[in-house]
Amino acid sequence: MSRVYNFSAGPATLPEEVLQEAAQEMLDYKGTGMSVMEMSHRSKAFQSIIDTAEADLRDLLGIPENYKVLFLQGGASQQFAMVPMNLMKHKVADYIVTGQWAKKAFSEAKLYGTANAVASSADKTFSYIPDCSDLPIDEDADYVYICENNTIYGTKFWKLPNTKGKILVADQSSCFLSEPVDVTKYGLIFAGAQKNVGPAGTVIVIIREDLIREDVLEGTPTMLRYKTHADAGSLYNTPPTYGIYICGKVFQWLKRRGGLAAMKEYNEKKAKILYDFLDQSKLFKGTVVKEDRSLMNVPFVTGNEELDAQFVKEAKEAGFENLKGHRTVGGMRASIYNAMPMEGVEKLVAFMDAFEKKNGK
Ligand SMILES: *Cc1c(COP(=O)(O)O)cnc(C)c1O
Repeated sequence: MSRVYNFSAGPATLPEEVLQEAAQEMLDYKGTGMSVMEMSHRSKAFQSIIDTAEADLRDLLGIPENYKVLFLQGGASQQFAMVPMNLMKHKVADYIVTGQWAKKAFSEAKLYGTANAVASSADKTFSYIPDCSDLPIDEDADYVYICENNTIYGTKFWKLPNTKGKILVADQSSCFLSEPVDVTKYGLIFAGAQKNVGPAGTVIVIIREDLIREDVLEGTPTMLRYKTHADAGSLYNTPPTYGIYICGKVFQWLKRRGGLAAMKEYNEKKAKILYDFLDQSKLFKGTVVKEDRSLMNVPFVTGNEELDAQFVKEAKEAGFENLKGHRTVGGMRASIYNAMPMEGVEKLVAFMDAFEKKNGK
């Protein structure tokens, strides 16, 4: 068996320990004589899996009692519609547009009401986070929306926007569980699992109870109402059972690692190795304003497309996979989520250093 260092932005690398445990339990989950994949979602064994996953997630994030945790399907993109359908009571919402994912969510919201772009960093190819201390928040806005970590561009909100009392909704897909979060500052947090916590097909929603309403927009399908899933403990229909099982294992792995404060410290150290290298390199250059840099997604370029392509190719041959930048940005991107070990980044930097020397800079 040989595993590569996988720098994919998503679906992304998972802890090897978790994969090994899942492999061991594949044919016979704890004496049930079946795989979790083959198990009824109404069984005792599965109920225990989902209950434990929720309890561990609540523990990790310190989720208050008055927030529900939902395990849903449809990916993060389905939340782009579910959020306005369920929350746009006055049919107005304010969006901060800091990249492709925020832009998509913003466009989707326009299908259901008035969506305002109250700030944007499109003028500089989303390479920074705009000042959000005094935005023109609409008096009638039902919520203010952010994409907290911009997976494609590699920026992160290190300070949450001043929403002037409005509910904050955050897409945390690519920074979920990478650091402690004060959940009380948000009305709703959602995260697609495939970046930092598990396999694609599961999306986690953390929502304040008073935002789970009956009076959603007319025509909202039963499956797209938070209330449907909240009332049924995420078991209204068959949930993504295997995905929830793996997420649960990742939550336990995070607890064994010391929780989110320890994870943040590790992630900071890990990202620093790469950023420090980029800052002194004469060949490679980070593409993002320093103070807004993500700890999870690190885009960089050489400034020469051919050299970029050569780097990606040689890196792949050396066991560093998926370093090609997003198709809309070009260059390279190293996604260094929770499960990427320090050693993977150290080795990548050593490889980059050797590539730089070989290419005469
Ligand atoms: C990947 C990603 C999405 C889209 O997720 P899907 O599960 O493919 O819908 C949305 N937002 C962010 C921040 C992402 O990184």
